[in-house]
Amino acid sequence: MMARGGRMGYVGRRMRSRAPAASRDFGLFLDVDGTLVELQETPADVVVGESLKSLLVEVSRRLQGAVALVSGRSIETLDALFEPLEFPAAGLHGVERRSASGARRGASYCDSALAGARLALTAFVESHPGTLLEDKGRALALHFRLAPEFETGARQAVSAVVRSLASGYHVQEGKMVLEIKPYGFTKATAIEEFLEEAPFAGRTPVVVGDDLTDQAGFRLVEALGGISIAVGHRVQGQWRLDNPAAVRRWLASIAALP
Ligand SMILES: [Mg+2]
Repeated sequence: MMARGGRMGYVGRRMRSRAPAASRDFGLFLDVDGTLVELQETPADVVVGESLKSLLVEVSRRLQGAVALVSGRSIETLDALFEPLEFPAAGLHGVERRSASGARRGASYCDSALAGARLALTAFVESHPGTLLEDKGRALALHFRLAPEFETGARQAVSAVVRSLASGYHVQEGKMVLEIKPYGFTKATAIEEFLEEAPFAGRTPVVVGDDLTDQAGFRLVEALGGISIAVGHRVQGQWRLDNPAAVRRWLASIAALP
């Protein structure tokens, strides 16, 4: 699991599972679904166990609180998943953010400009069994994990809906999911904001993620001399861990620091 030698950079898609040696200097930016916990059939099926919660508390303690969750979920949903813990967090791929001091930006609300989109996508899922609409208030995610045969139809429906909206929204691709969200926010914009504040400022930023939306964060921290860790084989980082279990073992190496 630990790094052998200092070789960095891409070594192709067959690169074996390895991650950098634990350091107290890290500021961690962790994706949740597919990174800390395995993907489930639907987002509502995901449960965060007590052992993961206590692991993150230990890691956060070692890093003076410099552990943030950076997810496509809303901050409200993250808090419910990790209850009673409330981490510094970016929700909806950077649209919302809560700093380590608790300050909130881009609070959750139901965006009425998405009302028509909501209706159209609700009609789509009703006529395409197995597809699922996840309403995040300010973003809408259409999942087709349980009905991959409807991918083409889902793409057409989402494209049509986005075209019908005023500018200011775009489609974020994910694993078996298409998401309509406000334009101009990414996980990278949220991480940049964290890096200007305590306790993240001055630390080595480390981004761990498994999906396309995490790549913006990877490229940002790579440019800043930080570290990117891809989980699985969908995205490219400087390092790679095979799955969430490997991520949790790597986090345990940070928790075990003296
Ligand atoms: Mg993910």
